[in-house]
Amino acid sequence: MNTKKVGFIGLGNMGFPMASNLLKAGYTVYGMDVNRESEERFAEIGGEIGFVSAPLPDDVNVIFTSLPTPQVVETVYLGSEGLIANGGAPLTLIDLSTVSPEMNKKVANAALEKGIQYLAAPVSGSVSGAEAASLSVMVGGNKETFNDARPYFEGIGKNIFHVGEDHGLGTIVKLINNLMAGIHTQAMAEALAIADAVKLDHDVVYDIVNVSSGQSGIFTRNYKNFIAENEYYKGAFTTALLFKDIKLANHVSNLYGAKLPLGESLVNYLEDNIDGYADKDMSSVYLMLTEQKGEPVK
Ligand code: NAD
Repeated sequence: MNTKKVGFIGLGNMGFPMASNLLKAGYTVYGMDVNRESEERFAEIGGEIGFVSAPLPDDVNVIFTSLPTPQVVETVYLGSEGLIANGGAPLTLIDLSTVSPEMNKKVANAALEKGIQYLAAPVSGSVSGAEAASLSVMVGGNKETFNDARPYFEGIGKNIFHVGEDHGLGTIVKLINNLMAGIHTQAMAEALAIADAVKLDHDVVYDIVNVSSGQSGIFTRNYKNFIAENEYYKGAFTTALLFKDIKLANHVSNLYGAKLPLGESLVNYLEDNIDGYADKDMSSVYLMLTEQKGEPVK
């Protein structure tokens, strides 16, 4: 697998900085995105563009993907124009997206049937972590393939974990993480809603909670980078992506018979209220909760 040429499909909020870090680590990176502007931005920093997923040069035998939803992952990997139909050994495909464990297994089976290696490797650490190459990477799949891929992971992250041979296992940890991130995000929104109701300065609440038992990395992320800046787009993890992940966490818990009373309530709450906030960062659940949408402020 050791090649200095890699493909990278999906140059979005996460993919772009990850692909940039692979460039900085000395790899030649063939970037591809359905959004032409993202590709052009990638070319400006030294990326190779102008390819469609299948006909990447023959000597590119490691391809990463960072895609928004399980549906897009299914198309890019399993569609008739996709990576597996058009790829052949030696090739390793590494999916950095957050999808379902079942999708990981479906892709793995199709890949392995053709002798293509596949790792499901969701990441955590926000856009800032992707920019700083300090992501956590949680990988499901063959240990030997993981060991071979480690140098690439070290180009994008700091904490690299092989969770198990089962391709869905890294994803399960990622969904646990994002369920917690979603619940902390809602908790933070409710905390600031109380502050607003009693006209207490947000900074006062943040400064005290941040050194007290309600502290969380999510509060710091959401408050410092977004809410305090009144900036909900730059560097986003969108509310739509959070909603996808909380639904996936509930789906997994239902499959295995775990109980998620808060997780389930959050799915229902977001379902009813996400309109107008889906494309904003997840910290906008604070706005979702406090904007009165035409109702008089009590
Ligand atoms: P994004 O929407 O910013 O990026 C996705 C990119 O994929 C876009 O540039 C889009 O144009 C491109 N794309 C869509 N369909 C495509 C196709 N068929 N072929 C090629 N490119 C296509 O999303 P993101 O925030 O970068 O997230 C990507 C993945 O990483 C998601 O699964 C998300 O859950 C996960 N993730 C995001 C964050 C975060 O903070 N944003 C953190 C950890 C994990």
